[in-house]
Amino acid sequence: MSSSSRFYSILFNKCPRCHEGDFFVTKSAFSRHFDEMHDHCPHCGENFMPEPGFYWASMFVSYAFFTIWSLLTFFVFVIWLKIDLDYFLIGLVPSIILLTPYFFRVARRTWLTIFIKPDPKRAQDLTRTVRS
Ligand SMILES: [Zn+2]
Repeated sequence: MSSSSRFYSILFNKCPRCHEGDFFVTKSAFSRHFDEMHDHCPHCGENFMPEPGFYWASMFVSYAFFTIWSLLTFFVFVIWLKIDLDYFLIGLVPSIILLTPYFFRVARRTWLTIFIKPDPKRAQDLTRTVRS
């Protein structure tokens, strides 16, 4: 995947501006401190907290991911593989619980990436400003 794509930062836990610095402190969504973010990009200094309450709207992004996951698994297991709906629902609930930290992180990265486009040149300028 091209590192100039917006999807790169969403999928690989990277700063949406420079694609170098990590967005979350921990690499894994399944660690104890999965929700801890950097306030600024450790590489270029991009602000990850544009305003108070910025990430409230990422709940709706997370909701969209859960809806897509539920519909996708429904079509695969119930429609295509003809598994009974009760067994599907019994399997869906734990999968949603297990995916909550992952979707939480992806939703936050997606939300910030909507507002910050990749710009390696500006990221280099910010790096000079931060380091000088
Ligand atoms: Zn950065």
